[in-house]
Amino acid sequence: MNNKIYFTPGPSELYPTVPQHMQTALQEKIGSISHRSKQFQEIFAHAVAGLRQLLQLPDTYEVLFLASATEVWERAIQNNVRQESFHLVNGSFSDRFFETALELGMKAQKHEVPFGEGFRLQDIAVPETAELVALIQNETSSGACIPVEDINRFREKAGADALLYVDAVSSLPYPAFDFEKVDAVYFSVQKCFGLPAGLGVWLLNKRCIARAEALAESGHVIGSYHSLPSLLSKAKVNQTVETPNVLGIYLLGKVLEDMNSKGVEQIRRETKAKADLLYAYLEQSRTFSPAVKNPAHRSPTTLVANTTVPASEVNKQLAAFDMAIGSGYGKYKESQIRIANFPAHSPQQVEALVAKLRELFG
Ligand SMILES: *Cc1c(COP(=O)(O)O)cnc(C)c1O
Repeated sequence: MNNKIYFTPGPSELYPTVPQHMQTALQEKIGSISHRSKQFQEIFAHAVAGLRQLLQLPDTYEVLFLASATEVWERAIQNNVRQESFHLVNGSFSDRFFETALELGMKAQKHEVPFGEGFRLQDIAVPETAELVALIQNETSSGACIPVEDINRFREKAGADALLYVDAVSSLPYPAFDFEKVDAVYFSVQKCFGLPAGLGVWLLNKRCIARAEALAESGHVIGSYHSLPSLLSKAKVNQTVETPNVLGIYLLGKVLEDMNSKGVEQIRRETKAKADLLYAYLEQSRTFSPAVKNPAHRSPTTLVANTTVPASEVNKQLAAFDMAIGSGYGKYKESQIRIANFPAHSPQQVEALVAKLRELFG
């Protein structure tokens, strides 16, 4: 029996109702039903409706299920870019999207700032010719985020035809996006939705769809089974092209139901309060200090701190009390810690983590 509470930034602690929903899924034999059945169509529609409600998603947006956020990167480039994309890069995930565009033969450009820094809008010039602008709302590797007010300014910065893509993988549903100001937002479920990994969600508007259709029309290759027209033709009838992660879609719908009955505003308030508690501790700790200097760019959902005690030692000591946090990313593995503050983490659990860190490390 594993009683650990996972404050790791994804996979992370499961939403508290997941075990009970899994039990029901087994009783209902969800793993055996056909993905062409009416029952599956209802499961699909339920998850989409739950997402629309939680995120206050306009009707002009479509909801698509893919394998992961990593897959969304590849599909976005294939379907929405003929030759040029532009990327904000300040860590490993934003850089990986940029690299994906290069690997797919695009002329990708980036505006890069050092690891651990956010972006200053006045420093960013978006090339007029960029067809897709990749914004990283929450860079999970470094703990830097872009405030929603800043995201909203990119429409005026980019060319009229540019599609604005927002990576909100490790922050949604915390940021209250103005979906009219962007064109696509994506996430995967093992971060803030407190679910087992294996499902990416792509929210996108008609401009993205029109672009894919125009590219295909002109003979540009936009992929095969997960091209946008192919994905959409099935989503329209609450189905997927391939045999999907039915259990994942089922659990997402159930957790969304729970999140909606709590209310997104309450989830956001709690997230903010827990983040304030964690940062207040990190600010005055003898061992840790927030890695992102500018408080406006500190992520409320994935907090990163420099540590004078190696991250592996911090985790070793926490393990004795059934707690796990994330190590630093890549070369910061030992010199930083990462703490997830997701809706699955209760205020009591976060308070207990802070108390234990203070007791053990000052
Ligand atoms: C985790 C993560 C991804 C990749 O998600 P997968 O589900 O592993 O594909 C992309 N972007 C950010 C910011 C992430 O945190």
